Amino acid sequence: MSKSEALFARAQKTIPGGVNSPVRAFKAVGGTPRFISKADGPYMYDADGKQYIDYIQSWGPMVLGHNNAAIREAVVAAAQNGLSYGAPTEAEIIMAELVSQLVPSMEMVRMVNSGTEATMSAIRLARGYTNRNKTLKFEGCYHGHADALLVKAGSGALTLGVPSSPGVPEDFAKHTLTVEYNNLDSVREAFVEHGDDIACIIVEPVAGNMNCIPPVEGFLEGLRAICDEYGAVLIFDEVMTGFRVAQGGAQARYNVEPDLTCLGKVIGGGMPVGAFGGKRKILEHIAPTGPIYQAGTLSGNPVAMAAGLAALTQLSDPSLYDSIFSNTERLAKGMTELAHKHGIPMTYNVAGSMFGIFFTDVEKVTNYQQAINCNTAQFNVFYHAMLDEGVYLAPASYEAGFVSKAHDEQIIATTLAAADRAFAKVVA
Ligand code: PLP
Repeated sequence: MSKSEALFARAQKTIPGGVNSPVRAFKAVGGTPRFISKADGPYMYDADGKQYIDYIQSWGPMVLGHNNAAIREAVVAAAQNGLSYGAPTEAEIIMAELVSQLVPSMEMVRMVNSGTEATMSAIRLARGYTNRNKTLKFEGCYHGHADALLVKAGSGALTLGVPSSPGVPEDFAKHTLTVEYNNLDSVREAFVEHGDDIACIIVEPVAGNMNCIPPVEGFLEGLRAICDEYGAVLIFDEVMTGFRVAQGGAQARYNVEPDLTCLGKVIGGGMPVGAFGGKRKILEHIAPTGPIYQAGTLSGNPVAMAAGLAALTQLSDPSLYDSIFSNTERLAKGMTELAHKHGIPMTYNVAGSMFGIFFTDVEKVTNYQQAINCNTAQFNVFYHAMLDEGVYLAPASYEAGFVSKAHDEQIIATTLAAADRAFAKVVA
């Protein structure tokens, strides 16, 4: 029995399913989740000492690679001054200033502790600001596990085949309208019917929870125009895309300005951090300036701020993204070409340092239905073959992959050589 198998058996006795977040349990791909003991640069190491090239990057935060020296040192230095004060610090101001500078639509910023808190709070703010009830979201997009958003959500919920969760009252879910991603007509229809009660549209500007699906041309611009027409708030959930698909996030990459933005993952450098922010005239409605309540014991935590600032400071150099993006393209295109060489139908999507490969003969995957119609049996064989080869992909075909600064050309070449052997097993 491997150490991971022993740990998994032990974990299941006191932790539901043995994990603290469902997708980690390998339910979609079967087998035993690898218990991780350390990570460095592009690599993770499991409890049995096996090394993996990691393309999950802690589900997104590690755009600089694991165990980044500057982040680690900033955390150690901050920890020496105490772990939490529950009172304001200068680091929080510097963080808000830096975020505003890198993402100019975020004129004001409120720190929270996770992506879920960011989206949940942004939606409350949009509702309070507009005095309307409904939220419009997209099939296959995941915005965390708040009640109002766990309606036909993706990510863990999608992977487990549970489109919406028990425990979410119908009365809550009825305020969430779910329409098709990349389909402006479906958005317009929803607004024609409910436009006077839609507080906001929330969207992943590049969908990363139904594999990787970038917006088709005109989609984000169309959402902007519809929100303007109906007086609804446009929320970009950039928890995944922020500081990843471009220095200024998807809004910079596609040049569309939302009213509110949610951040998470990269902004914490690996610590539990999220943020939401946007137009001053909206943010001023949040407590204590305004009546819309939102709070957090550990929000703006000094150690978390130190980690996030160390990450964002390094990411302030836009040229840093060039090689990450070209390596991402090299990887996804290379895997697709190798699949074709083995006679396996495949297509890929890339947005900055996010990528997705799809086991399908559809030419370009642009929506949820196409994503879920992919060949999961082939993916699962490929997944385990890659794991054996020492390449750690997301343990579900509905997740985007991530490339970091630490994944150099050599790492990509090693991965592609592994993929070549793995595809041979898929057709064997
Ligand atoms: N929004 C998006 C786009 C995400 O991908 C996620 C998590 O994967 C979340 C929100 C929720 O973030 P967290 O898991 O930090 O609560």
